[in-house]
Amino acid sequence: MAKKVMSCDLVVLGAGGAGLVAAVKAADVSGKKVIVLEKAKKPGGATTFAGGLRVMNSKWQKAAGITNQANSASPPGDLGKDEKTNERSSGYPKRGNGPGPGATPDVTNEFFDWMCEKGGVEKYFKLNKNGIVEMPNRMDKYKNHPDPSIGPGREGTFVIEKMVECCEKQGIPVLTDTRARKFITDSQGRVTGVLADTKDGELQVNCKACFIGAGGFGADYERLKKLWPEDHNGKTMLHLCPPTCTGDCINMAEEIGAGIDMSVAWLSFMGPVHHPYSYPIYRIMQEPETLYINLNGERYVDETKNLSARSAAILGRQPKAEMYAVADSELIETLGRRIISTPWQESDLPILKKFGEDIAYEVALDERKRRGNHTKKADSLVELALKMDVDPKTFAATIERYNALCENGEDEDFGKKAEYLKPVKKPPFYAFWGQRFTQCAHGGIVVNNNGEVLDVKGKVMPGLYAGGDGISCNDNGGGGMSGAVNSGYIGGTSAGEYLKKI
Ligand SMILES: Cc1cc2nc3c(=O)[nH]c(=O)nc-3n(C[C@H](O)[C@H](O)[C@H](O)COP(=O)(O)OP(=O)(O)OC[C@H]3O[C@@H](n4cnc5c(N)ncnc54)[C@H](O)[C@@H]3O)c2cc1C
Repeated sequence: MAKKVMSCDLVVLGAGGAGLVAAVKAADVSGKKVIVLEKAKKPGGATTFAGGLRVMNSKWQKAAGITNQANSASPPGDLGKDEKTNERSSGYPKRGNGPGPGATPDVTNEFFDWMCEKGGVEKYFKLNKNGIVEMPNRMDKYKNHPDPSIGPGREGTFVIEKMVECCEKQGIPVLTDTRARKFITDSQGRVTGVLADTKDGELQVNCKACFIGAGGFGADYERLKKLWPEDHNGKTMLHLCPPTCTGDCINMAEEIGAGIDMSVAWLSFMGPVHHPYSYPIYRIMQEPETLYINLNGERYVDETKNLSARSAAILGRQPKAEMYAVADSELIETLGRRIISTPWQESDLPILKKFGEDIAYEVALDERKRRGNHTKKADSLVELALKMDVDPKTFAATIERYNALCENGEDEDFGKKAEYLKPVKKPPFYAFWGQRFTQCAHGGIVVNNNGEVLDVKGKVMPGLYAGGDGISCNDNGGGGMSGAVNSGYIGGTSAGEYLKKI
């Protein structure tokens, strides 16, 4: 099949948060022709799933007389730093503390003001009474989505849908099902084009500049294993990162001499969770009063440090890296009422109220002999152990020991606070299955303050820009999605200015 050839001023690799923001911003600044290539069947990447956009010193906040108030909205598991070890507990940089390591400036305020100018932001985003820009509800068409622990429908989805709308209005083609594979360079090593694979054959896109926004490498298990071998140990783990995020463009950039720095790479890694099953159960098993046991039937951790990187790492050392959160019927009622009174977003409430139904549904699957990684219910501890496939004797001894610790009000084994020590006594008893999970892996291409890619000697590679999860310092602007849109905005601005000059 003949190769198809297209031409533009700026080619953008990846239609996630960083790529789409860069594409629209560069077109705004320069008025030049931009084309976006996207490997997946639709735009969005990991950004579609993200919430917690960090906005500080925006026009909204300034008009209300508020300065330096960051958006502290975070993923449900973002517990900030571990009190004892001062380690990051979830993999996400703690919100509200300003930029992380690296040098890229934080322009999330400029980004947010710019997005407001594009229209429609006020329908979903609000300035709350504490001066935080937040999105209290998911977008209308995603309201009934059963799993609010992640998007779609939250701030990341809004950014993607707004940018796609801008691309349509500004005549920026977003070519989906198109995987960038190789850079074409001239005799001085400048990028003059990109070769891509499409379902109709090879595509060559000639360009004067390129922005790499092709995400991170959270779906490249081999690279993850190399960087974090203790955690990527072949045991059970859920990978939430889109399967297209395999770090292709980090490799492409390396091939043409870009600097790659994995020394500051980081992984959003957490657990344990009851995922991807029921959201109310996901929430219940994160309450510190539940009792965590491994597949040997033994307690293995202080349950207070749940849903964190540290907790996930400890689970990774247990058999199969799987666990159960155990509770009796009295505790289930208490925890059910608690999760209803503490929804993460208002629109979660109807889903949380179904906690009893969700538990009954998962138990029924088991009763119908469709045994799986769901919820076990039994009238006796022996029966519960058998349903979990753990040794009943060991399990009984674990419960006896835990109940004694609860009675004494002191956790001599793992140091859980006395207020969280609740005995397992009143049947029926429940056990909720849990595993570790990862989201995105961040790190790679070295860029300067302007989002320009640097070569292995630290020299600017003219016309080549990068942002998002695939760069080495995307903690800036708040990491994750905030870091992605921040670096997309910076790189898009720089690429636009460059195109105006040449
Ligand atoms: C389930 C989940 C929940 C998250 N929750 C949060 C949160 O609450 N808060 C937060 O801050 N962050 C969160 N994150 C992380 C956040 O989504 C990412 O850090 C950020 O959005 C990455 O943006 P990006 O533009 O760099 O990459 P992406 O949005 O992943 O976009 C990269 C795009 O490039 C495409 N691509 C890859 N290779 C190629 C190629 N060769 N050619 C063309 N295209 C290519 C991909 O298909 C993808 O569409 C979450 C991530 C996940 C997976």
